[in-house]
Amino acid sequence: MVAYTPLALKAELHERGWRMTPQRETLLNTFQHLSEGQHLSAEDLCELLKAEGAPIGLSTIYRNLKLMARMGILRELELAEDQKRYELNRPAPHHHHHLICVRCNKTIEFKNDSVLKVGAKTAEKSGYQLLDCQLSIHAVCPACQRSILPV
Ligand SMILES: [Zn+2]
Ligand SMILES: [Zn+2]
Repeated sequence: MVAYTPLALKAELHERGWRMTPQRETLLNTFQHLSEGQHLSAEDLCELLKAEGAPIGLSTIYRNLKLMARMGILRELELAEDQKRYELNRPAPHHHHHLICVRCNKTIEFKNDSVLKVGAKTAEKSGYQLLDCQLSIHAVCPACQRSILPV
């Protein structure tokens, strides 16, 4: 797996017949400046960019997030809610998995190299090129276990 700088992304996009547009660069920069553990939806990004005075239309954001996820630049996360969330797909030692509370969506990131090794080996055996390997554990956090709210 590779970590993308704007320059490397530009080259990669070019190679695949895509252009590095100002919007794509803005999106990539935004992800690179997030603190660890943040997982943003298209809506979150839309709000964030609007607040920063560099708005991008929601449909453009959607399209580009999908594209960058397909290329392995971003990871698309299936957390407990409906919205897909995204984060940079960074190589080890930043590579991580997620423990997700299905009730409140509180998400804990954790590292496990053996999961990544299984992923790499499995892909390699079939001649696939590994882009990402993520383990999502769906569970109920201690606070939600204590709460009396029904599921
Ligand atoms: Zn994460
Ligand atoms: Zn919870």
